[in-house]
Amino acid sequence: MSDKPLRRLLLDALARSACPVCAVIDALVFDELCHLQRAAVVDPETHADVVGHGGYCADHFWYLDALASPVTNAELLAPLMDRLAERLTAVAAQLTTNPALLRHGAVAISTRVGMLTSCRVCESERVWQGAAIAAMLDIIAESGEQQRYTRCDGLCLPHLAQALSVCKDRVLAESLLHTAVEQSQRLAADLRTYVCKWETKDRGWGPEDRAPQCSIEKLVGAKRQRGSN
Ligand SMILES: [Zn+2]
Ligand SMILES: [Zn+2]
Repeated sequence: MSDKPLRRLLLDALARSACPVCAVIDALVFDELCHLQRAAVVDPETHADVVGHGGYCADHFWYLDALASPVTNAELLAPLMDRLAERLTAVAAQLTTNPALLRHGAVAISTRVGMLTSCRVCESERVWQGAAIAAMLDIIAESGEQQRYTRCDGLCLPHLAQALSVCKDRVLAESLLHTAVEQSQRLAADLRTYVCKWETKDRGWGPEDRAPQCSIEKLVGAKRQRGSN
């Protein structure tokens, strides 16, 4: 992934009101899982890597369940079930010699089974988030794009915190915070308008109609999509 498509994706996301970094990561995860659903079955190297790491985390496995065909997933899951059976057989053998193992807690037992060592989609997400936040800071620093950024809902709180933690320019960090104050105040006003419209049975359309969802996204980040279902 070069910088240019990432910058383009972020600029396109600025035209919508949601957190641009959330929107871009969501699109990249979708593309990655669209690619992996087949590659982890038909490409021997990708297959060995995914199976070798024990599959994916819960979020990305369920995402794959919604995205890929059950037959494709079955091909990936069969060797993982073999591996799980082997590991559990080994744990059962350890239990015979070490009955205290059961008292070490669920995490210790799970660690001994040791299926998931790292989810490659989570790893990619971490890299993309770092790159997207750096590119977003560059975009916000450009005077031509600042207004566009101010007009959208801006970075969600988790991505704002990440951006501030890597921002080396104090003036830019201050501007980012001031903009975040403006964006939050605008959402607060939209929420109150939403409640007022509800109470007065005003059904006219306005930007406040999405204020509850936009505000949740502002606080915790975008709702993660899970495939196409
Ligand atoms: Zn975000
Ligand atoms: Zn994951």
